[in-house]
Amino acid sequence: MSDLDRQLRLKYDARKAKKFEKLGITTVRDLLTHYPRRAFDPGRPTDLAEIARLPEGQEVMMAVDIASLTARPMRNRRGFLVEVTVTDGVSTLPAIYFAPHRGRVTYLEQRLVPGRRVVVEGKIKYRSGRPQVVHPTIEEVDSDFSEEELAERAKHPRLTYPQTAGVDSKSIATLIKSELDALDDADLPDPVPPAVRREHRQMDHAHAIRGMHRPESMGEYLAAQDALRYEEAFVLQAAMAKRRAEAAAEPSTPFPRRPGGLLEAFDARLPFALTEGQRAVGDTLAEELAGGVPMQRLLQGEVGSGKTVVALRAMLQVVDGGGQAALLAPTEVLAAQHERSLRALLGPLAEGGMLGSGDEATRVVLLTGSMSTAQRRAALAEAASGSAGIVVGTHALIQEHVQFADLGLVVVDEQHRFGVEQRDALRAKGRTSPHLLVMTATPIPRTVAMTIFGDLEVSTLREVPAGRAEITTHLVQAGNLAWVQRMWTRIAEEVAQGRRAYVVCPRITSTTGEAGEELLPPDPEGAGGGARGIEGAGGSTTSAPRELSAVEDVVEQLREEPALAGIPIGMLHGRMSAEEKDAAMAAFASGEVPVLVATTVIEVGVDVPQASVMAILDADRFGLSQLHQLRGRIGRGSLPGVCLAHTAVPPETPEGAVTPAWARLTVFAGTRDGFVLADEDLKQRREGDVLGANQSGRTNSLRLLRVVSHAEIIDQARADARAVIAQDPTLTDHAELAAAIERALDAEAQEYLERS
Ligand code: ADP
Ligand code: MG
Repeated sequence: MSDLDRQLRLKYDARKAKKFEKLGITTVRDLLTHYPRRAFDPGRPTDLAEIARLPEGQEVMMAVDIASLTARPMRNRRGFLVEVTVTDGVSTLPAIYFAPHRGRVTYLEQRLVPGRRVVVEGKIKYRSGRPQVVHPTIEEVDSDFSEEELAERAKHPRLTYPQTAGVDSKSIATLIKSELDALDDADLPDPVPPAVRREHRQMDHAHAIRGMHRPESMGEYLAAQDALRYEEAFVLQAAMAKRRAEAAAEPSTPFPRRPGGLLEAFDARLPFALTEGQRAVGDTLAEELAGGVPMQRLLQGEVGSGKTVVALRAMLQVVDGGGQAALLAPTEVLAAQHERSLRALLGPLAEGGMLGSGDEATRVVLLTGSMSTAQRRAALAEAASGSAGIVVGTHALIQEHVQFADLGLVVVDEQHRFGVEQRDALRAKGRTSPHLLVMTATPIPRTVAMTIFGDLEVSTLREVPAGRAEITTHLVQAGNLAWVQRMWTRIAEEVAQGRRAYVVCPRITSTTGEAGEELLPPDPEGAGGGARGIEGAGGSTTSAPRELSAVEDVVEQLREEPALAGIPIGMLHGRMSAEEKDAAMAAFASGEVPVLVATTVIEVGVDVPQASVMAILDADRFGLSQLHQLRGRIGRGSLPGVCLAHTAVPPETPEGAVTPAWARLTVFAGTRDGFVLADEDLKQRREGDVLGANQSGRTNSLRLLRVVSHAEIIDQARADARAVIAQDPTLTDHAELAAAIERALDAEAQEYLERS
C-alpha cells in the first residue's frame, strides 16, 4: 500500500476525522486531491478607500476591523442574511453572508465581534451601485497585524478550499501543508509517463501537487492545474484503451455476410427502404462482424431513428454464420416488447422449425424472470441447443445460468442502465468473445461518449425515417384551469378518433416522502429542491413543497373527469408485477384502454404507433433528456402528435425574471432535436450528474476535468493513452499508471454498486 493510501493522521480527534469524512477525505490521497476551489493573486493588498473604483469581480484582500454585524431572516426562504460591516477607520464595506440557520448566525456573532482585526478576502460585487463582498473568507488576526505582514502574504496566490461545517478552508490548508511536508517526491509517483509530460511541457505529478497546494505564483498554480487535469483525462483514457485492447485481443468468431441467407430474406421482405444512415451503419457493422476482432460499438440515435432494425440485421448476419445473438433490455416490459417487435419484423422468418417456414428461418425466444418454470425451461433449452438464433431478455440473461450454444453477438439496449461489469459477464458466456453492440437513444455529446464509453467506437443515426409525423409541444400552466381542462378534452378528442394518450406523472403514490422509484436521478434544479446552495439567495420560485402528481391519484381523478367520461383509463408503474405491467401495456396497445397514466417506466423504447397525445404532469420535475425520451413515445406512426407539458412553476418570478424551470420547458417545447436538448441538459447539470457520480462526488475520480468544456484535452489524452497501451499493453513498464487505472476502476465499480 502506498503511503498515500494510509488514513489521515488527524492530531485532533475522531470528531474532526468525521468532519473530514463528510468532505470525502479519509486518506492522504483524498486530502491531496482535495484541490482549492479557487485561487487568486491579490497582487497587492487592497486599499479600502479605493474600493468603489474597482470593477465587479475584482479580488480583494485587506486588513480591517469589524465595525458591526446584523442578521435578519430571509424573506422568501429559510435562513438569515448576515451583514458584517468592516472598516479601516474611515471607509466601510459590507461583507454579506447567508446563514442557513440560527446556529450559524451565533457562530458568526461569536467570531466577528466589533473591534476585532481581520483579514478579508473575496470578490467585489455591486448591489444598487454600492460595493460589497459576498461570502468572503474572514480570518481573525492579532490586533497588531501590520500592513507589512499583509503585503508578505499577498506575494503568493491565495487559495480557498471547498469546506464544510466545522472544517474551514484554513484548517484544510494547514493539514495539507503538514502532510505535504512529510512526503518526498518519490511518494508522489506520476501515472503519466515522463515522455508524455515532456512532450506537453508539463510538470510531473509531484511538482503539480505541490504547485496546486502551495504555489509560488499564479503561473505555477495554473500550470499545476493543467498537469493534473490532463492526468485525470489520461488515466481515464488509458483505462478505456486498456479495456479496449484486452477485449480486442481475445479471439472472436468472424461472421461474414452470407449470400442467400436469413439476412437477405429479411431485407427482401422489409416493407420500407433503409435510410442512408441505417445503410451506412449497417455496412460498418457488417464489416466488423466479418473480422476476427470483437466488435465494440455504440449505436446512438434518436428515438424512432430505426436502431432496432439495424441491430436486427446485425443479429441476422450472425445467425447466418451459425451463431446466436442476445438482446438485453433494461426492463421486462421492454424485453417483451423487443421480442414482439423482432417477431413482427421477421414474420415467418422467426418461425424456424415450423411447417411452411423457409429453411433459413430462425427462432426468437424471450427469457425473463417472471416466466413460468415450464416456459423458462423451454426457453433455456432453446438457447442452449442453439435452435433459438435470437434470445431476448433482461439482466436475468447474464445473472443466471443461461447457456448458449454459440453466442456470437450481444446487443445491449439502453446502455445507461448497464454497467461495464455486466457487459463483461455477458461476453464471458461466448465460446469466443462475442461481438458487442450497445444501443442508446439518449443522444450523448461526443466528449461525454468518449469519457463514458471510451472503449467503444461510436456510430450515430442522425436522420429519422421519412414520413415521420410532426409533434407539437405546448406548455400548460397548472394554475390556468381552462388550459388544464383543454388538456383533458384534447385527450378525449384523440381517443374519439381511435388514438391513444399517455399521462405521465413523476410519482406513483402521493404518500409523502416516498418518491416514485423511476424518477432518477433527482432533477438537479427541480422546483422546491433545496440543493441549489447559497448562490440562489433571493430566488423566489421556491414555495412550500407541493404535492406532486402521482399515478394512483391521477387515475382516480381522471376516472371522475367529465371530459373523459366513458373512456377506460389504465395505469403503469414500476411497482406493478411484470404480469400486471404486460397486461396494462397490452390493453393500451390494443386500444381497449386508450388512456394510460404512467411513470417514466414508459420512457424507453415502448412503441405504440397509435399513441398521439402525451400529457406530462409536473414536467418541471424531469430533466430535458428525460422529457425528450418521454415525448419520443408519441408520433411513432404517421399520426401527428401533441405533447402537453404541464407545470405548476410560474413563467416568471415576482421580480419579472423568467424562472429556470420555465426556460427549460420552453427549450423543450422549441425543439425535437435530441442533440440540442442533450447539450442544453449538460450545460444545466453538474458534471457529476453527467458521469453518474453520487452526490458527494467522491467515487467520481474527476476533480478538474470537465467533459463538456475540455474536449481537446480529452482528445489529446486519448491519443496519448492509446499510444502508451499499444506499446505496453500489460503496463509492465508503467506500474504507477496501472495502479492509477486500478483506483479509477475501483471507484467506478463502487459507484456502479451504489447505483444499482
Ligand atoms: P429505435 O429503436 O431507434 O427507437 P425503431 O427501430 O424501433 O427505432 O424504429 C421505429 C419505427 O420506425 C419502427 O416501427 C420501425 O419499423 C420503423 N422504421 C425503422 N426504419 C425505418 C425506415 N427506414 N423507414 C420507415 N420506417 C422505419
Ligand atoms: Mg427501439
